[in-house]
Amino acid sequence: MMNATTLILLLIMPLCSLVLPAAGVAGTGKIGEAHSVSMESDRMLVCKISEKDAKPGRKAQKRGDAKGPGNKRELDTIPRVSTLPKAHVTELRTWSNPDYTRIVVVLDQEVKYTHHRLKQDHSATLPERIYVDIEGAQIAPGVKDLPIGDGLLKTARVGQYRPDVARVVLDIENIREFKIFPLSDPFRIIIDVKGERKTEISRLEQSISAARPEPTESGEPPAEERRSPPGKVKTDKVRRIVVDPGHGGHDPGAVGPDGVQEKDVVLAIGLKLAAILREELRVDVVMTRSTDVFIPLEERTAIANKVNADLFVSIHANASLNRAASGIETYYLNLAKTDKAARVAARENNTSLEKVGLLQAILFDLMANSKINDSARMADEVQKALYAKVSRKHHEAKNLGVKQGPFYVLVGATMPSILVETAFISNEREAELLKDREYQETIANGILDGIKNYIKGLH
Ligand SMILES: [Zn+2]
Repeated sequence: MMNATTLILLLIMPLCSLVLPAAGVAGTGKIGEAHSVSMESDRMLVCKISEKDAKPGRKAQKRGDAKGPGNKRELDTIPRVSTLPKAHVTELRTWSNPDYTRIVVVLDQEVKYTHHRLKQDHSATLPERIYVDIEGAQIAPGVKDLPIGDGLLKTARVGQYRPDVARVVLDIENIREFKIFPLSDPFRIIIDVKGERKTEISRLEQSISAARPEPTESGEPPAEERRSPPGKVKTDKVRRIVVDPGHGGHDPGAVGPDGVQEKDVVLAIGLKLAAILREELRVDVVMTRSTDVFIPLEERTAIANKVNADLFVSIHANASLNRAASGIETYYLNLAKTDKAARVAARENNTSLEKVGLLQAILFDLMANSKINDSARMADEVQKALYAKVSRKHHEAKNLGVKQGPFYVLVGATMPSILVETAFISNEREAELLKDREYQETIANGILDGIKNYIKGLH
């Protein structure tokens, strides 16, 4: 078992190089040089060695799959077994628009990784590329190269660089910067790539339709074609809002005393909010989910970035071991200032306090492009308006205020983004309210008012 310090070092070391992505990796030149071969040339290299050694990865996979004590004894007697990868790259996913690409490498356990950026190799006609070497990992069967072709990246390729090192290579077309960071439970490596902002409406519109889980918005004209009715809030600066009901599918979120699930009440609130945002603000609303489906946290952010959303609102219900705890609070992305806030982030990230600590350690670098001031202002407006709306009918409502926390769902969002904890589902009284249609509407209306006030402040 590695101790916490080792774990932190393992995770932070590759991330220290983030600040110097374009200049190569300081202090790792030797490794960079040694690895300065493309995956193609690696394959050629493998071909030169004996057939016995040429496919260690495949053999290792078979051995790795073997189960039962007999096989284990056999493995124990083979010296090479000690280097057999235990982790597997199980999935490679990507989302993109013309100025943003997110790549997610999903693994079945925590691993150590390093990354490097290579210049174009004219002699071998290889493009500039970023590669990530994942130690002690194998590419699981079925994980294939992904064509991207979004103007930033050409392809994401996977390969077994060495028997115990899996490699992910991104062939670059034209990028401005990239960030790479891990998320936990399940362990995944996120690569966010940014380019110069372009306005390719046709491609953007395609992205939007592709990002919608179901065609609930079909038939509506694009927001750009609608005229704002007189007397309404002018929304030139906010044309598209992403509403994100938390959890879903196999992830129920927090569960109330009588079994009411967070995923159901936040979906009901999210659907109402989307409807009134469209009606009142005449904005385009994209929902990360409009049915009971599971969507990973990093995908929700990716959807918001992909559709070039102007605002991102994630809706949740709070929970505490203290059944008496109640109230409304709104978060934006930053270091948690209190243990309570860190605990809320751990619960919403579906991970441990220790992992929240790891994210906090690298958050400063990840937040370089986040709209922190705008997010804080939107959180403030939404919290005020939501509390005002709810407390008018429910005098016992508690205003817990605006808070900060390292929420996975907000990391990498390029627009002002907040996470609203609408009430405590662990509190009997508030759980009852959360199930009530009228109360759900009150919450949606409160969030709408807050967004309206935020938009008014933009002019
Ligand atoms: Zn939640």
